Amino acid sequence: MDTETIAAISTPVGEGAISIVRLSGDEAVSIASKVFQGKDLHEVSSHTINYGKLIDPETNELVEESMVTVMRAPKTFTREDIVEINCHGGMVSVNRVLELVLTNGARLAEPGEFTKRAFLNGRIDLSQAEAVMDLIRAKTDKAMNIALKQMDGRLSKLIHTLRQELLETVAHVEVNIDYPEYDDVEEMTNQLLIEKSQKVYDQIEKLIETAKQGKILREGIATAIIGRPNVGKSSLLNALAQENKAIVTEVPGTTRDVIEEYVNVRGIPLRLVDTAGIRDTEDIVEKIGVERSRQVLKEADLVLLVLNYGDEFTEEDRRLFEAASGMDVLVIVNKTDLPQKLDLDKVRETAETASIIETSILHEQGIDQLESEIADLFFEGDLNNADMTYVSNARHVQLLKDAKRTLKEAMEGMEAGMPIDMVQIDVTRTWEILGEIVGDTVQESLIDQLFSQFCLGK
Ligand code: GDP
Ligand code: ZN
Repeated sequence: MDTETIAAISTPVGEGAISIVRLSGDEAVSIASKVFQGKDLHEVSSHTINYGKLIDPETNELVEESMVTVMRAPKTFTREDIVEINCHGGMVSVNRVLELVLTNGARLAEPGEFTKRAFLNGRIDLSQAEAVMDLIRAKTDKAMNIALKQMDGRLSKLIHTLRQELLETVAHVEVNIDYPEYDDVEEMTNQLLIEKSQKVYDQIEKLIETAKQGKILREGIATAIIGRPNVGKSSLLNALAQENKAIVTEVPGTTRDVIEEYVNVRGIPLRLVDTAGIRDTEDIVEKIGVERSRQVLKEADLVLLVLNYGDEFTEEDRRLFEAASGMDVLVIVNKTDLPQKLDLDKVRETAETASIIETSILHEQGIDQLESEIADLFFEGDLNNADMTYVSNARHVQLLKDAKRTLKEAMEGMEAGMPIDMVQIDVTRTWEILGEIVGDTVQESLIDQLFSQFCLGK
């Protein structure tokens, strides 16, 4: 075990009036003491904040005034001694403080190393560690709530329960193997096995079903607004953005600067795809035609297809419907304030099962209904069920699917009267796969890979 004392700036770079340099490890307190002039940090009680001056011991120069928090193991995030040096002031000063502790015995932490230590020291499990990462990246309150619950160990508890039930199942199998001469034991065991496995199977399935919603809450519903020029796409976008707080984030590292725009609709984040296409170049369809719309549609979870009530239904409209077929589509018939030219029967026929919402965005009509439809389409009203445990992590979803498949095989074996020790292999394998979610049975390389995705200082 690596017991070197690590240090990093643990507040977001360039933000806030206070920055924190965090130290973790056996030497945390003594390194801090070397550079701190005030109370003796070795003597202060744990979890106290102490005012003092930071002095460079080599030059005796004053670096900063600061508040230093001492937290002694094991009641800390890493279960090691932690010292947090609060510096006010900008990047220059916080970097100087970091340098100071680095030259006095600490090593710069790798990204995610604090959280990794918390995991390795048994303070949190893997799914909780991943939640820390999600929390850092959360773009909406809802996403943050999922991450917080996961961090709180909610998913972990559920997984532990399922694993426990599988263990009991395996124990029954053991009894059977040990006393094969009792016929009735075998029969009873088999029945019980199937029942128990079915119970676990159902719960795994339920969890997988939350994944779509979990992903949406985490990443937003990728939404494409399509329609012929001038039907009101930009107006719709603005209306959604205006009523709901729009969050604009730049995605660095992409070829052109793609701007992702989020709007919250009834607590559901919509990630508007290719808003630049709608906003600036004035119309995807006009400029690049239906082909481009198809590209945009590829990444979309939801399509808002806008039509003009004051205009005839055209061949181009029909082709847009065609391009969006098989997707979640809401049809918006806009400009209902104009004299009707649109053949609504034809729209209904073409829309098939998709809902049709009439709006006059100009007069701010129909937008509420549109928002309800969006919410219903993805959450059937149960979004506010606070007790729901959502699975939102792709790795977890994959493992749950693997577990489901393996358990299915075990159950088929039981029903087909397969030798019980064969069944046992599949049940045990399911138990192992579930263990990978919480990190009980993962290899070291995976752990390294997961933690390397963290931000520095976490
Ligand atoms: P886009 O080309 O599809 O993005 O359409 P725009 O949002 O740019 O709107 C085109 C024009 O239609 C603008 O002048 C809007 O003000 C107008 N418009 C948008 N919604 C309505 C509506 O509900 N009724 C009427 N009468 N005009 C609208
Ligand atoms: Zn437009």
